[in-house]
Formats: sequence, C-alpha cells, structure tokens
Amino acid sequence: MKALFFNKPGIENLIFSDYQLPDIRDDEVLVETKCTSVNPIDYYTVTGIHGVNGPAMKINPYPHIAGSEIAGTIKSKGERVNNTIREGDRVIIYNRVFDGICKYCRNNHQMLCENGGMIGISRNGGFAEYVIVPQQNIIKIPDELDWELASGLPIAGLTAYNAIQESRLKSEENLVVFGGSGNTGLFCTQIGKLVDALTISLSSRPWIKEYGADYVLLIDENLREKILEITNGTMADVVINSLGENTWAKGMDIVGKLGRIITFGVLTGGNLFIDGRLLYNKQITIKGTTGGSVEGLLNLIEMAKEQNIRTKIWKRYSLEDSKIAIEKIFDKNREGRIVIENY
Ligand SMILES: [Zn+2]
Repeated sequence: MKALFFNKPGIENLIFSDYQLPDIRDDEVLVETKCTSVNPIDYYTVTGIHGVNGPAMKINPYPHIAGSEIAGTIKSKGERVNNTIREGDRVIIYNRVFDGICKYCRNNHQMLCENGGMIGISRNGGFAEYVIVPQQNIIKIPDELDWELASGLPIAGLTAYNAIQESRLKSEENLVVFGGSGNTGLFCTQIGKLVDALTISLSSRPWIKEYGADYVLLIDENLREKILEITNGTMADVVINSLGENTWAKGMDIVGKLGRIITFGVLTGGNLFIDGRLLYNKQITIKGTTGGSVEGLLNLIEMAKEQNIRTKIWKRYSLEDSKIAIEKIFDKNREGRIVIENY
C-alpha cells in the first residue's frame, strides 16, 4: 500500500512510498482510510519529542506510520472478530490501545490502561491507504456523520467531551475556553453551548461565534475586566486551558469561587505555576484530563448526530501530500482542521 512513513524521527525523514502491509491477526481489522485528521500529537510522533521540552516518544514499529485520528471503512477482518463488524461498515477508530482487563479499563477509563498505547504511536497509524487495528478499537458511525466531522471525533472531539464532563459544567454556568479556534477548543465551545452554559471563547478568530460562542475575547491585559463584566462579577465557573504554561496565570486570574480548571495538551509547555492561597481561598479545583473513554466516544457520536455539532476544515490534502499537512499543524494562520482525504 501507499503510506507516509519514517525510519527515524524527523519531518525531513518522511517518505511517501510503498509500505508492506502485514497480515492481520485473528482479532484485528483492516480499515481502508477515508479521512485522517491531523493533530499536534502527529507532529510530536514524527519529530520523536512530546511537545515543548517534553520526553522522547516511544514509537513502534519502524519504519513507522503516524496518524492517530482516523475514519474509514472495514476492508477485511480476522477470524475471531465479532460478526457485528462487517466489510464496508463506516467506522472511526478509538485511538487508545487498551487491554480491557486492568483496573482502569474495567472502570471505563481505557485511556489510562496499564498496558495502554496509542494508534499512530505504539502501532502504525492512518497516514496510509490502510490501517490494522484491534477489533475493540472499531466504533461504527451513522450515515449522518460525514467523513470530515467523523475523523475529528476520536481525539479532538473526545478530548473536549471528556474535559467538559470532568468539569461538571452545568446549565447557566460560565465557561471560558482558551484556544477557542483550535482542534479541541471548537468542540469545547459547541459542547459548552449544548450544556447551555454561557460560553466565552478566547481567540483572535471572530468566526467562533458561528459555532455558538456567546463572546469571543482576546487574551490581553483587559481580559479579567471583560470577564468580570460579562459574568456580573462571578467570573468563570469552568476554565478549559489546553495551552498551558504561557496562559496559565491568565486562567488562574479569571476563575471564580468553586471554579474548576481543566487542562490537557499544554501546547506552550507544562510548567504551571499555582499560588496555593488563590487555590484555597476560592476553593478552586484543578484537574488534568487525557482523551476519553470508549463510552464517551459513543456518547459524542450520538451528540454529533442529534445536535448537529460541526467541524471547520482549513485545508484538505491528499495522502501523497500528508507531509505538508503535518508541517502545517502549528501554522499560526491556521483556521480550523487539517485533514487528509483518501476518497
Ligand atoms: Zn487496561
């Protein structure tokens, strides 16, 4: 098959060529890729370093195919695969590898599996014509979901869904989303509105209002004053901050009493300064989240189908040009998703 792969980390080492597809095992499924969405994690995989000053990525196998957020159709399956999975089914791939038996999996936290990994990192991923995955990672999707939206659900959508769930955001509370136009930010804004929260999206992109944001604000020296005014002095009940280090103090500055700060991704770095006095005086909760569960993904699919969650595509590339797609993920002019289409 054709694939984008590398023999050692580095964007410059990416090769688009023929890749020998191994035989599928009894409990595995061969998926023909239709749309693979690009995320920061793909860039980290290719460069071998997990984010700003982050640790080395544990990549397997080599030569390696990255690509962790995948939608496609079932091409074939192993002998022991459940008969509810059929050739031609439209599916997305739950991107966390999990054993299904450890204490975290048993409590529906597959993303924390003791023997876990990630498709695109600990196994080959979706920047290819085909990808082989364990049957338990196959999630069927309804016809109402188009490929572009569907391929954005396993990482960006699910991370946002899980973050909002873990924040216990309630109707009429005030939600502030850092990185509002980013992959997860756009989903957080839309899910926040579905919860009927007052949603404030922090971004320089005014079009986020079309996705339900009540206010779109810049992260500047007036941010605290503006949020004070909008919330009638109560400030944010929930702050979603995936940007991390560079904006952390701003997030601490705008959270109100009993507020919850949720963080993941930390795209600008992971050193998060916390003033303990601020924390206890307002009884603030700070919580980290990572991805989400299989059940969460199923719930999100229903939500997307019933309540018309949308995606925004910035650029579409062919499989052959997927190297350019990965290079563009941190482009400061990016307005929406980058996807690789194979249909
Ligand atoms: Zn497990």
